Amino acid sequence: MNLIQHFVNGKVFKSSSKRTSRVFNPATGEQTSEVSLASKDDVDAVVQKAKEAFIDWSNKPPIQRARVIFKFKELIEKNSDELTKLIVSEHGKVYEDAKGSLTRGLEVVEFACGIPNLLKGEFTENVGTDVDSWSIRQPLGVCAGITPFNFPAMVPMWMFPISIACGNTFVLKPSEKDPSCSIKLAQLFKEAGLPDGVFNVVNGDKEAVDALLTNKDVAAISFVGSTPIAKYIYENAAKNEKRVQALGGAKNHCVVMPDCDLDQAVNGLMGAAYGSAGERCMAQSVAVGDQLVNKLSKKVEALKVGPGSDKSSEMGPLVTKEHLEKVKGYVDLGVKEGAKLVVDGRNIKLQGFEKGFFIGGCLFDHVEKNMKIYKEEIFGPVLSVVRVKDFKSALNLVNDHEFGNGTSIYTRDGDVGRTFASKIKIGMVGINIPIPVPVAFHSFGGWKRSLFGDQHMHGNEGVRFYTKLKTITSRWPSGIRLDPEFVMPTMK
Ligand code: NAD
Repeated sequence: MNLIQHFVNGKVFKSSSKRTSRVFNPATGEQTSEVSLASKDDVDAVVQKAKEAFIDWSNKPPIQRARVIFKFKELIEKNSDELTKLIVSEHGKVYEDAKGSLTRGLEVVEFACGIPNLLKGEFTENVGTDVDSWSIRQPLGVCAGITPFNFPAMVPMWMFPISIACGNTFVLKPSEKDPSCSIKLAQLFKEAGLPDGVFNVVNGDKEAVDALLTNKDVAAISFVGSTPIAKYIYENAAKNEKRVQALGGAKNHCVVMPDCDLDQAVNGLMGAAYGSAGERCMAQSVAVGDQLVNKLSKKVEALKVGPGSDKSSEMGPLVTKEHLEKVKGYVDLGVKEGAKLVVDGRNIKLQGFEKGFFIGGCLFDHVEKNMKIYKEEIFGPVLSVVRVKDFKSALNLVNDHEFGNGTSIYTRDGDVGRTFASKIKIGMVGINIPIPVPVAFHSFGGWKRSLFGDQHMHGNEGVRFYTKLKTITSRWPSGIRLDPEFVMPTMK
């Protein structure tokens, strides 16, 4: 059986631990690899290597760091087919979707190429007579990223390219469900000329995560995953005096106003609810509107479910058997709770892929606010339609939900669209846009229990997260000859 190890200090690193976890091809249901699970000692050794590499890397001029990142960008483009196939084979999503997610990650790498410009400080001449003041941003040290299974390339790429461009070194702990893509990215970064120890990938589970949380040489933790773990990471990283951003789960609503272009809304919803089998933190899992169900149900029934490697498939399998059972359990629960199951995808059978982790698209109507299938994140291809009496009730419904990642509204009324964008308590908002994921030079992040911490990911917020501010005030040189002063320089 293929054993996936760790990539540390520019080479494969063998774990001192014998613990492993199984990696599957979700389309066939077959185990393809084992992944090594790092021990605390392994993690401490990796952090030590990253700490040593920080000394030289943080001193490199930003333009030289940018040149390595440029080369990395070229290598990702050259290897995009292989990277995409790794995503498809371990995550299960369809090829074009996987390729699109890689491209969104690549855009962050492109953004990081501009780091000399992004790190420019601020300077004020003469804050007092003959006194100048300037602010610079300096790297933090060793940063760590802990990422979920659903975007094995894109989510790590929200983090490490910017962190490394800023002069930090990085330890990535990807999801143990689909670890291969991260290893390949680390190999490509080395090929691009990145010095050993600057980017390291350590595979593992809770033991590795806890070792990162408690290691005193880890300066900052970026996390993306489910809300309970995000909260755990936030609390423990802060307790151990680390900077932390921890992005959690979601329940994204799409409000469909009666005046909108209904076909546009339904098509948008199909991609947003069922794309990537609903395993997206920006998936729309609640549609709020009255006239949707007829049009939606026909399209959900016609969804072409199949292996991600088949280019005609629109929706692939779920990531693991356990996750498939969990999603099916939610559909069972919705029926028990009294919602109307309009399309039931639970019993789908695919010839040649009988052991794959497939479920067809599911559509519920008349879902109520107090039902668990409304309150909790399902993370599968299950769309709930909720009916409300007017725009204000729709606004309140979205605002009352515990999660605040993304939301969309479909309308032709500019006033409604503008009011929605202004009053909604959600981090990322689309107006006639189904999945409003910000591009790399803006920042990604939710509100409420979808993000613990202050800074969003990538864009300028990413640069701020991975650097600390220093402000220098100097008087130079004639001022040194002056007598002692007891008033502030700006008063003179
Ligand atoms: P998860 O929380 O189970 O795992 C995320 C990471 O945490 C993995 O690396 C995992 O190994 C680690 N982990 C798991 N249990 C742990 C524990 N008890 N202690 C310490 N570490 C632990 O999430 P997942 O199932 O891999 O991913 C799906 C979730 O991620 C969904 O809730 C989804 O909404 C969320 N997500 C959020 C965003 C966002 O931007 N807000 C983006 C993508 C995914």
